[in-house]
Formats: sequence, structure tokens, C-alpha cells
Amino acid sequence: MSFDLVLFGGTGDLAWRKLMPALFQAFRHGTLPADGRIIGVARDDLSDDQYRALIQSRFEAVEGAKRPSAEEFARFGALLHFLRMDLSKPDDYARLAASLKQRNADTVVMYVATAPALFTAVCEQIAAAGLNGPHTRVVLEKPLGHDLASNRAINDTVRRCLGERQVFRIDHYLGKPSVQNLFALRFGNALFEPLWRRETIANIQITIAEDLGVEKRGAFYDSTGALRDMVQNHALQLLCAIGMEPPINAHADAIRDEKLKVLRSLKPWTPESLSQHVVRGRYQAGTVHGGRVAGYLEEPGVDSHSRTETFVALRTEIANWRWAGVPFYIRTGKRLAGRDARIEVNFRPAPHAIFTSPLGSANRLVIKLQPQDGLELHLLAQGQDNRRNAQALAPVQLDLDFDKRFGTERVGAYERLLLDVIDGRLNLFVRSDEQEEAWRWVEPILDAWRSDTQGPRPYAAGTWGPSAASAMIARDGYCWSEEC
Ligand code: NAP
Repeated sequence: MSFDLVLFGGTGDLAWRKLMPALFQAFRHGTLPADGRIIGVARDDLSDDQYRALIQSRFEAVEGAKRPSAEEFARFGALLHFLRMDLSKPDDYARLAASLKQRNADTVVMYVATAPALFTAVCEQIAAAGLNGPHTRVVLEKPLGHDLASNRAINDTVRRCLGERQVFRIDHYLGKPSVQNLFALRFGNALFEPLWRRETIANIQITIAEDLGVEKRGAFYDSTGALRDMVQNHALQLLCAIGMEPPINAHADAIRDEKLKVLRSLKPWTPESLSQHVVRGRYQAGTVHGGRVAGYLEEPGVDSHSRTETFVALRTEIANWRWAGVPFYIRTGKRLAGRDARIEVNFRPAPHAIFTSPLGSANRLVIKLQPQDGLELHLLAQGQDNRRNAQALAPVQLDLDFDKRFGTERVGAYERLLLDVIDGRLNLFVRSDEQEEAWRWVEPILDAWRSDTQGPRPYAAGTWGPSAASAMIARDGYCWSEEC
């Protein structure tokens, strides 16, 4: 199968940090179809060879084992081409059309990895240049809008230019091996399904913690914030993967229908729940991994009077028969105590104690997303110290380390998603109605913050966020895992 992959924003940060390394890994694994071209697009005036040299130099920053040798790059680099275009100029699309039509590949993927302000113009020009044929697939990066109205406006334009099945809205958390393993665990095994409900599960916690600050993206982040950057998309998609009903089959729309139902079932916000169940914070100067770091307001590109949040913790419920009354907690933030993304499913304690050990919340399923992928099942077992106390139980973990089990065969999130686009598989991409429903649900939070004079609560960099986040979960009688 032949393909052309057009990378709008081919010289940008996303292209060289994530997309090129992912494409190279697919090439190295032999999963990238052999007959392909990768065409980087930007306004620079580069020849193909200059573009290859630029990408090769960028690979220096890629971690050791994932870096190509000179011989590997020579073979991979042969796929790379460059086209100078100003995406805001309709005339420039004629050259792209000529290049694509000349080759007439079986599949054309257009990855829109450029400034969000250009997304709709790019879709309109793809259609105007007649490049929206049935073999064309368009990948849209985040952010797709700033609120429900702007998201709808983008989706309306996209729908006018392309069919829904041609549009691949990427959420790279869905491409993570652990998330696919969560689907496999839930829908490929009978073991967990009877337990996956309110009678057995006490609460579910989704944490996406970063130890980094805003780095060089202060201006972008300051107009976005943690709710829009992480909760509206990644965290809610993870919540859907955990909370959805088994789909009738593995087709994209069967899966996406079930995720949509979860989003529609999220408990609507009330003034009381907004004040009790949502905490926003902003990091101040502090210490991360032994080094002093600046506070958010001192970061380059950030308005010194900014009210943007760098941390959100919230509590919600899925109002349906399976989950009624079970709290789902979401927490995400920058400059936290560690880089750690995980979902924890906390089961209810045994109903009756016959051992002397405290039972607490010993039974937990932990789906680890970052820094490593993996699954852990926490149980109680007979302790070692049974001469002194024959009834003492000790916590143990069944640990599935994907790196150990699958080694180098393991496929990273962007690699997996790029291959899915080339193959036309939409399962791990977000449909427009899901996205709109997620915006609809977060919008009351944005409205409440706009009229709230208090602003984000401070937390010291290198901690787990404002103490109000711990107080919120403690009111239900639970704690975040690092506090229990
Ligand atoms: P970036 O580093 O600023 O790169 C933007 C790219 O677009 C550059 O190649 C730039 O090249 C090109 N470009 C800008 N205006 C253009 C125009 N008028 N015509 C042609 N090319 C143009 O941005 P980025 O960080 O890669 O982000 C790209 C997209 O991915 C954004 O939507 C961002 O929100 C999203 N995203 C990024 C990340 C990340 O980690 N970086 C993560 C998630 C999502 P020239 O200026 O030379 O033309």
C-alpha cells in the first residue's frame, strides 16, 4: 500500500519531538508501509536534503535506544521530503495538489500539527483544492477550540469540508499501551466485569501529574490552563475508558457511542458542587527534585496578573445504574511532586474481618500510564512474620510490566496512532459529538471561575497541589494514594 503523509508544521516542536520519532520507530519495527512519502510543510525555504539534515539533527535529542544509527537514518531519511507553503495562502495549496496528484498514493494523510488558528483554514483549503477525496484522512491536534462555541464552530467547518470518517481527532492518551490494555482487560476477560460496578468499587482516581512547569510554552499555557489543556480531553477520555459499558463490537462507532454515553451521564454541575467539588491551584516557587524553581507568575510569557490555573482536582459521578454514587476523582497539574499518570480503581474492603490486620483499601487496580506503562493489582497475602502473628496479612502486588513482557516490540502512543491513521482505524480517535459533550460539561466550571474573585489557590512547586484537594477527597472518607 502506498501512502503520502503530509505534515503541516513539519519543522515544529510536535513534529520533531513526537511525530518523527514515532514514524521512525514504525519504520524500524517494519510496520510503516514501505511505499511511503513523508512531506514536511512549513514556510521555511528548505530543499529535501536540508529538511532531512534538520530532522537528523533533531534526532540527537531523542533518547538513546530510540535514536537511529547513521545507516538507519539514511534509509528512513529517503522517505522525507519538504514543501514550502504558507498555509494561510490559498494559492500555495495548488503545489501540494500537484505533488500529491502526480504520485496518486493509495492513502493520503494530512497531519495538521501547526498553529490552532490555522486549523479551519487548512481544512477549507484542502477541500477547495479538491484534496478531500475518499482516500484522504486528516489528523487534527489539540486544542480544538477554547470552549463549546469555538469547538462547534471548528467542527462545523470540518464537517463542511470532510466526512466524519476522514477526521482523526487525536488524543494521544488513547494510544498509550496501558489504555489499550485497559480495554483488553475489561472486554477481553470475564474476570473483572462482575466487579466493575458500584457494589464492589469504592472510588476511582485519575491522576495526571507533571513535575515540569510551563517550559517555553508560557504564553500558550496562560491562555489555556489545566482544565482545558488536560481535563477536557485526556482526563475525560480516560474516565470514559474506565466507565464505559462494553461496546457491542470493536468498531470505532460502537466504542465511541459508549464513550459518548459516559460523557452524557456525568452529573451536571450545581452551584454547590462547583464550590465543593472543584479545586483550582497555581504553583508558586518551590523545590522540584532538589532544585529551586520559579513560580508560575514569574515564568516567561505568563501575564504577571494571570488567573490561569496550573492545577485542577475535581470530583464527579457517572449517573447510571453501574456507577451511581461512586466518586470519580480527577487531578492534574504542573510542577507537582513527580511525573506520574495513573488510574486507580479502589475496591471496597472485605465486608467482614477475620484477620487481625487492618483491611483498609488494600484491593486496588492501578493502571500506570507514565513514566512507565503497566498494570498492578494490589492484594493482601499472608505476611512473612507469621511466628509472631499467624494472622498478619501483608500487601502484595501482581505486576504486569509491559516493558519486560513485550520489550522492544512495544509500540508507543504516537506510533500506534499514526499507523492507525494510515490504516484508516478510527477506534482510538475522538468523534466530534464526544468532544462537544466534554466541552459542554467543563463549561460551567469555566463560567464559575470567571465570576469567582478568589482565583487559584497557591501551592508550592514540588508538592501534590493545594491542601483543598486533599480536603475535598477527605470529605468522602478517602485519600489520594500518596496520602493513604
Ligand atoms: P510550533 O513549534 O510553533 O510549530 C508550528 C509549525 O507550524 C512550524 O513548523 C511552523 O513553521 C508551521 N507554521 C506556522 N504557521 C505556518 C503557516 N502560516 N504556514 C505554514 N506553516 C506554518 O508548534 P507545535 O508545538 O509543534 O504545535 C503544533 C500543534 O500541535 C499545535 O496545535 C499544538 O497545540 C499541538 N500540540 C503540540 C504539542 C507539543 O508537545 N508541542 C502537544 C500537543 C499538541 P514556520 O513558522 O517555519 O512556517
